[in-house]
Amino acid sequence: MRTKIIAGNWKMNNDIPQTIELINGLKTALAAQTVKATVIICPPYTSLGVAQQLIAGSVIKLGAQDVSLYDSGAYTGEISVAMLKSVGCSYIIVGHSERRQYHHESNEVINQKAKKVLAGGLLPIICVGETLDEREKNITNDVLTTQVKGCLAGLPAADVEKSIVAYEPVWAIGTGKTASKEQAEEAHRVIRSVITGLYSNETAEKVVIQYGGSVKADNAKELLSQPNIDGALVGGACLKADSFTAIITAA
Ligand code: PEP
Repeated sequence: MRTKIIAGNWKMNNDIPQTIELINGLKTALAAQTVKATVIICPPYTSLGVAQQLIAGSVIKLGAQDVSLYDSGAYTGEISVAMLKSVGCSYIIVGHSERRQYHHESNEVINQKAKKVLAGGLLPIICVGETLDEREKNITNDVLTTQVKGCLAGLPAADVEKSIVAYEPVWAIGTGKTASKEQAEEAHRVIRSVITGLYSNETAEKVVIQYGGSVKADNAKELLSQPNIDGALVGGACLKADSFTAIITAA
């Protein structure tokens, strides 16, 4: 039985006062319930330090939104796995569609980042997903297969079993359009079957596959009740304590 994992990707939102307000609101709301899911927040780099202090002793775990391919040195603006570990991160998102789109990150780069994250003792949240054009051309399954194979290339089964894959159809991110539960479940099944083909059924059954794309309080339960949907990667709805809490409660 896979534990559901709900992660909030804050993107480029929230300065320090806003970070304090959001985390305090979340802690208060979560303290009022028994939280069965793993809860992760991924604030921007500038808020990680204060977030680490605020989440101490709570159920909330810390993640980052991206990481450098390199360990240290002359890479202006980059942040390493070791730096993220030292500020309390346990998870790092790699290959978000906004990184693929605006920073031209390929499956090869994402694969190298996932390997760095795992080598550093942290866990990657590896994002895959088709564009609207690809869905309309009926090549979603091929796109997902290529992305999963590329992003997992060379990883041993033990590392894959610990990793999280996030299925994020690009056309559903930040658009208010959500994949139907059937569309999402079908894509998750494809991803799991690609992992079965690459490794084994045993490995594939251990991998947590999150859905991301306009997950909200009112659609979370339906999506999360699908057999292959093991959690959510949440953008917009994680920026308010009440809507993020409602998704966690649904899980
Ligand atoms: C995301 O950016 O990963 C995401 C899923 O965003 P939203 O929930 O706003 O669609």
